[in-house]
Parts: sequence; structure tokens; C-alpha cells
Amino acid sequence: MKPTDLSTLPPGVPEALEDEGVAELYPPQAEAVEAGVADSESVVASVPTASGKTLIAELAMLSAVQRGGKALYIVPLRALASEKRAEFERWEEFGVDVGVSTGNYESDGDWLASRDVIVATSEKVDSLVRNGASWVDDLTCVVADEVHLVDDAHRGPTLEVTLAKLRRVNPGLQVVALSATVGNADEVADWLDAALVQSDWRPIDLKTGVHYGNAINFDDGSQREVPVGDGKKQTEALVADALDERIDGQGGSSLVFVNSRRNAEGAAKRLAETTSRRLDGGEKNDLRELAAEIRDVSDTDTSEDLARCVEKGAAFHHAGLASEHRSLVEDAFRDRLVKCISATPTLAAGVNTPARRVIVRDWKRYDGEFGGMKPLDVLEVHQMMGRAGRPGLDPYGEAILLAKDSDTMDQLFERYLWAEPEAVRSKLAAEPALRTHVLATVASGFATSREGLLDFLGRTLYASQTDDDARLAEVTNRVLEYLAVNEFLDREGGALTATGIGHTVSRLYLDPMSAAEIIDGLEAGVSTAAEQGSLRGSPGGHGSDGEGEGAEPVGADVTAEDAGFVTGNELAAGGDDADAEVDGDGVPDEGEPGPEVTQRAREVTPLGLYHLVSRTPDMYQLYLKSGDRETYEEQFYERESEFLGDPPSEFEDVAFEEWLSALKTARLLEDWASELDEDRIAERYDVGPGDIRGKVDTTEWLLGAAEQLSTELDLDCTVAVREARKRVQYGVGEELLDLAGVRGLGRKRARRLFEAGIETRTELREADKSVVLGALRGRRKTAERVLENVGRKDPSMDDVRKDASVSAAATAAVEGDDDGGQATFGDFS
Ligand code: ADP
Repeated sequence: MKPTDLSTLPPGVPEALEDEGVAELYPPQAEAVEAGVADSESVVASVPTASGKTLIAELAMLSAVQRGGKALYIVPLRALASEKRAEFERWEEFGVDVGVSTGNYESDGDWLASRDVIVATSEKVDSLVRNGASWVDDLTCVVADEVHLVDDAHRGPTLEVTLAKLRRVNPGLQVVALSATVGNADEVADWLDAALVQSDWRPIDLKTGVHYGNAINFDDGSQREVPVGDGKKQTEALVADALDERIDGQGGSSLVFVNSRRNAEGAAKRLAETTSRRLDGGEKNDLRELAAEIRDVSDTDTSEDLARCVEKGAAFHHAGLASEHRSLVEDAFRDRLVKCISATPTLAAGVNTPARRVIVRDWKRYDGEFGGMKPLDVLEVHQMMGRAGRPGLDPYGEAILLAKDSDTMDQLFERYLWAEPEAVRSKLAAEPALRTHVLATVASGFATSREGLLDFLGRTLYASQTDDDARLAEVTNRVLEYLAVNEFLDREGGALTATGIGHTVSRLYLDPMSAAEIIDGLEAGVSTAAEQGSLRGSPGGHGSDGEGEGAEPVGADVTAEDAGFVTGNELAAGGDDADAEVDGDGVPDEGEPGPEVTQRAREVTPLGLYHLVSRTPDMYQLYLKSGDRETYEEQFYERESEFLGDPPSEFEDVAFEEWLSALKTARLLEDWASELDEDRIAERYDVGPGDIRGKVDTTEWLLGAAEQLSTELDLDCTVAVREARKRVQYGVGEELLDLAGVRGLGRKRARRLFEAGIETRTELREADKSVVLGALRGRRKTAERVLENVGRKDPSMDDVRKDASVSAAATAAVEGDDDGGQATFGDFS
């Protein structure tokens, strides 16, 4: 079957596909078309990695759009959203508008109504439904990428419930689910009322084997000699062997999967010695340029380590890298410039980075719940192995596991090479998952009674897989009890309704347990402060600004009580895709509560708030490493008065340890909000820049939510919460809050202006331009942009000479401020 055989696509698309090299549809693609994927039929495609699942989705979406419909593509990871958008944007010339929904949870993304194809994560779609996005009703086609992730305890339930809701809103909806090869794709297809396309077909042959001794033993019985010895390790020998085997003049690249970030970095450093001996002069030059680009992304140790590896032709890849780092590495690997990547399994999921040889070095990973090293799932190992073989470049792909003895080799053959992947099992009937989804389902009007709720849950994969209906009912009862006790739900007679706070919690996308913890903590903080006699009148009215319009949940009966709730879009850190705004509600500023509040803000400290949000289930805490316990125990006693809520006793082992982990996380945030340099933080807490960014983003979101809860409950700490949030958002101390809100300024430049005596926006508007230019180290364009953004009438820097004395003093004041200082994400505003 050829693309031009398809009559459902927008005119021009079939020819464009052929121009891209899709002469024939791959067999699973043709099967999907026969099953009606281009004619509004639901299809589950369970096929190996790299066998063209994306095109199946595109055929469905483009045909839907051509029929006048609207499509949604659900990605499993935020990082993949922009990648998919970029991929689909090539259809814009055929009249298909593409939009990606990232950004904050509590917006309704109404601008997406004008797009034909929308890309979003399942969490984002869930929140859009909760916020009543109008266009959800118009969807005619939904694609769920990597649908086997419904098996994931953390994220699976959201995907499952979201698909159930979308199908409920829109009974005729076409669902296209893309899955790796799993043990029970038929069950997934049954659940979705979809046709099943199941295939083992791959565009390029895959040889799998185990390296043991001095050879790879392939599953087809063949062997390839790859000797180790002379201190050479298995991985190094295999990477070298692939590079030395020239096919059409080209050596083969390798992808090495390991079980931790540290191991990924360590392996890349060692493998760089192997790759560097096999580079020609041109490659060395190109790699030096690439290394420079990597250094430009950020000034951290991780960035430097990566650049050093890349100069030698190797790289590491894990979730702690900045996204710019990740895409530079992926592109260079696809261009065959980087010869070897050592990666954690994030790379196996979704990113298209084929290699001639895949080496699965670690097949066990530390698992806290398991209590030790746990073997990876077959499905996961198969997905890694599926990255082997580049169509058109390699004769076949090779995927290799490593064994140190023959018993292990036998075990690996049985466990992974000859084994079928596991069945996908719903994880919905777990309390944390149901807590969130039961509240949201009631709040957005999908169920108004316990029976209605159970009926809705009956449409999930869980229900279709279980024989034990009683279990779901039992967990649901427990969850309803929890939600009622915490006053998120009212249960009167047989009716279920969300309370005002319950609606807010659902819209804010908080785990109800996080919300309960935050409310308790804030109440405790406020009452302690009140006991100390420092509280005065309430700073703000309750729900008075009418921002609730347009945010009613789907189908909910919005009571008069709900109608006035603040959605807080203006309080949150920026709407969809928004850059940090010039901030009208900077703290403390004109029109904001006066000195009493600043006094009160001291009772509820930023550290107390950072700790509070760090102990909610919505924050991934930092682990305590060896030696950390003493450090944080000491700080626990030093900072005890700042904690919001009662700490556990030292004898409650697990709870106390968690409290200390939250303290470690809170200390990282405090360091960030005290302008400590990113690389110092990375070193102190042993994390990557991506982790810091992740913690900062999560904290901003959770404190934004805390701020709204505080306003709605009329707690006297809204200002303190807002201040703590803004300090994290900008990464600055209290005195810089006003300046740091200027768009395009960033924390380091704000600090330099401050040190040069320009302390507020008002002062910046009037300041001597030569001082501004000096503080900004002679960068005219930057200075002009900053002055323009702060609203200065005449921002031009023509004929201004920088005040050199200012420049030197200001630069000295900013730590770690090399010339490319603005490139660190510390200056992301
Ligand atoms: P999957 O999502 O199944 O892992 P992809 O959709 O990323 O795989 O496809 C892998 C590669 O195969 C992509 O580079 C894609 O452009 C290419 N491809 C897909 N279908 C065809 C086809 N019919 N002919 C040629 N190349 C194809």
C-alpha cells in the first residue's frame, strides 16, 4: 500500500510522505489502515519500537482533520510534547494547525480551540478537562502514545481516567492507542472497543545476544568474537568492536543502557577514551564546536563533564540534563558525530535515536519499594533493545546483554531474550491514584453519586481487567471517607458534591493529600503566629475578584458558593507558554499590604513553606545520602521553630527520615532563593541542573496553589506564601524581588544593578544610564531591552558611556559570574 492509495488525507499529504521516503506503508501501518484507522475506527497498534507507530497516528489525525474534525495526541513525557509538535508542524503547509499545550495546570488553554491537532501530556489533558476547556467536546480523534504506560503506578491512572473521560464526553470518539509489544494488547483493545493490530515486524532485523567470556552469543546460535582482557571491560570492548566494523566506510555507533545517572556519567567518561582514538580530524573539530555549544547551555559541572566527553566522541543522557543538552546530544548521535551514548532508560522511551549496537549493561535497578536491586521488566529491556539498527544504514541491529558467568548468561536468555513481555495491568485501584481521580471526577460533574462514580470507574481498564468488583468499591469507599473528612467532598443523602475547596484542589491539580497537608501546615503556622500576637486584620477579601468565570468544570452544577472562586491565573507563575511577566503584584510593592504584613511574613518563613510543600506527595524529595542524616538532624534543631506543623518524634523512624529529606529539599530551594549559584547547588546536593529546575518548577506550582488555598480559607499568610513563591520563581533574595520581576533581566543582572545602587524598578526607570550600562557590563542591547521592559520612556543607549567603576564592583559582587553568565537557567526569566 502506498500513501497515494489513501483518499482520506488532506490533498498534498500523500505526495509529501512519498517525498520523505515513505514509498510503501510498513506492514503494520497497512494493517492499521485496513482496520480503518484513516476512517474514524478505533485501533490499538501493538508493534515493536521503531516500526513506524507515529505514521499510524498521523494517518488517523490527518484524516480526522480532513473530515473537519479535531485531534489530540497524548504524549507520556513533557519533553516529548515539543518534539512531537515539531514533527507534526510539517503538516501546516497543508492547512493543519498544530498546537502544544504545556505550561501551568490551572489554565483552560482556550487558545487551543483554533488548532486542528493538539499535543499534550495526559496530566495536562486531565487538567484541561478539569478546567472545562471548551474544545474538548469537539475532539473527534485521540491518540494515546505509549499506552502500555497505563501500567505505571505513578502516571498510568491519569492516562486511564483521562481516556475514560474523553470517551464519556464524546461517545463517537476515535481512539488510536500506540503500544510497545505487550503480553495482553487484546485486553487493551477490548477496553477501548478498538480493533487490534499486533505485529512483530521490524523495518530492520534485530539480532539479540549475551556477551560472555570473549564472544557474543546470539539467539540464532551464531557467535561473534569480542575478546576482553588486558583490563578492558565488556562494554568498552563491545563499543570498540562496533566502531571498528566498517560498513560502507562507517563504523557503528552504540547505545549503552545503565541503571543510574551516576553510572551513565561514569560510563561515558570511560567510553570517551575508546571513542577518542577512533576520530578523524574533521570530527574532532566538529565535536569541539558541539562541546562549546554544550558549555553555553549552562555553567554547571554536569555541563562541563558532558562537554569533555563530547569532545572525545561520547556522551551521557539522563533526566538530570537540561533539555537543550539532551537535544544537542540526540541530534549529534543521529548525525553520527557522537559515537556512543550511555543512558538511563529515559532514552529508550520515545526518543528516536537508533544505534547499530545496543548494550544493556545493567538489567537491575535499585527499587526502594522492592528493597534492593530489582530486575527490569521484559517490556523495558525489549524497548531498549528495539533501539538497535538504523534502517538504511545498518544491515541489522544488535542488542546485547552482559554476563560474567555462564549461569547468568542462561538466566538472561530465559528472562529476556526468549521471554514474552509482561501483560499491562491497571494500577488504578490504589489509594493515591483514586484519591485524586475520585475528587476530580466528582468536581467536574462526571459523577454525582457513589453509584455514578462506580459506574464511571467501570469504564476504566481496571474494571475491565478485574473479577473483583468489590475491591474497587472498597478502595473507593475509603477514598470518599478521606475526601469527606478533609472537607473536599460533601456526602448528603446519596449525593456527592465537591466543596468549594474541593473544586479548587481539583482545578489546581493537587493530590488531595498535598492539599490537606498544605492547609494544615498553613493553619498551624498562622495560629502559632497569632499566639505570638503578631497578627492583624486580613489582607485580602475572600474570592472577590470574579476571576472564576470561564473556569467552571465540565457539566458541574456550579453553586453560588463556588462562583466567586479565584482561579488565580493572575497569581500563578504565568499562563500557557507565557514568559515571566513584568510583574504587577511584586512583593513588597505599591498597593500591597504594608509593614505589618512584612512583620507577619517573618512568622511564616520561606524555609517553613519550602519544607511544607516538600513533604507533600506532589514533590519528589531529595534522598538522604550517607552522612546526610547528621547534617540535617543538626539543621532540624536549628530551624525547628520554622516548621509549619508538628514534626514527628525522632523515634518514628520512617516519618522522621522523611521530614529530614523534605528539609534537605527545602534547603536546596532556600539556597536557590538566596542566589547561590546553580553549580554550587548542584555540587552541594549532588543533583543535575535539570533536577534543580524541576524542584523550582514544582515549588512554584505548589506555592501558587498554597497561595490560593490561603486566600480562599482567609488564612493570614497569603503574602508570605506569595513572597516565598516569587523568591523561588526568580531565584533571588527578598530585596531583589521588585527588580527581578523585570522581563529579560534575570537574577544575576538584577543583583548587579542592585549592587550599583539601583534597587527598585522605580529607580531603574530614573537611573543614570551610564550606571545601568556599567552594571550590565557594557551590553547596550541588553540595557536597552531592560529599560524598555521596565517602561522607561527613552531606553536608547546611543552615546552613553558605561561607568567602568560600576562595572567592576558589580561584577565582583556576583558569584560565579563568568562572561556567559546569562546562559545559566538561573536567568531564565
Ligand atoms: P516508533 O514510534 O514505532 O518507535 P517511529 O514512528 O519513530 O517508530 O518510526 C521510526 C522511523 O521510521 C522514523 O524515522 C520514520 O520516519 C520511519 N518510517 C515510518 N514509516 C515508514 C515507512 N512506511 N517507510 C519508510 N520509513 C518509515
